[in-house]
Amino acid sequence: MDQRDESLEPGLYIVATPIGNLGDITLRAIATLRGAEAVACEDTRVTGRLMQHLGLKKRLIRYDDHADEQARDGLLALAAEAAVALVSDAGTPLISDPGYRLVHAARAQGLNVIAIPGPSAVVAGLSISGLPTDRFLFAGFLPQKAKARADVLAELGGVRTSLVFYETAPRLVSALQAIGDALPGRIVAVGRELTKLHEECRTGTTDDLVAHYTAHPPRGEIVLMIGPPVEADAGDLDIDALLVEALMTDKPSQAAAKLARAHGLDRKQLYSRAMELKA
Ligand code: SAM
Repeated sequence: MDQRDESLEPGLYIVATPIGNLGDITLRAIATLRGAEAVACEDTRVTGRLMQHLGLKKRLIRYDDHADEQARDGLLALAAEAAVALVSDAGTPLISDPGYRLVHAARAQGLNVIAIPGPSAVVAGLSISGLPTDRFLFAGFLPQKAKARADVLAELGGVRTSLVFYETAPRLVSALQAIGDALPGRIVAVGRELTKLHEECRTGTTDDLVAHYTAHPPRGEIVLMIGPPVEADAGDLDIDALLVEALMTDKPSQAAAKLARAHGLDRKQLYSRAMELKA
């Protein structure tokens, strides 16, 4: 078969590939890979297996954003003359994957940059989580260190949207515990091994999920999603009781920030009430 029977304009084609199930590749992605002069990829072995599955033989060029400028310039020079595809190991390139610097430089040079959209774990997870999807904030991987992770949760916890993170199986339980500490009362969803044989999506409180994943240590790939702060009617809450409880372990400023994040309340008002209660 002619490996370049599709004629493509020169440019950089950002091609999404499956996140597990090899059936999840679009017709346009296959046509683009077939028509490309070369395929830039994170790992030539991983992409080599995909190409083999598709019956394609192509020049594979290893690329990540740490590549030196010469390597990037080489790819850009090629993309000025011919179609160059960029893929990552799985899902959509640039989404917690390499490609940002390449796309930035390609656009700065006025090259064609063309999206060939397809799977991405963030959207797949959110679409089955049962959490609100009208607005969401995706923040990549949660930091590994406890302090940095708590800082990120404190920073984003008050944002009135669902939050989405990528996480690894060995860190899932400690991440859930950190979410329970920083954002008490929030509903969380864990999407695991999406599109694969052992796909699951579990939604619940952090306590439920910690109990489940402590008893059944998870494997595989994970998207961790947190529902938005519940817009509580302040009249439904016993704010004094919540503050008194929080003040047993936290300073007034921390107690106020935590309750504000958890219930979508005004932090300053909570802080002055916490100071009164403490006095
Ligand atoms: N570019 C990819 C995308 O568009 O989804 C993400 C790449 S990032 C390096 C890999 C992370 O994505 C994994 O550690 C996991 O958190 C998440 N992920 C990828 N595939 C997944 C799957 N099948 N199920 C759940 N999470 C997945």
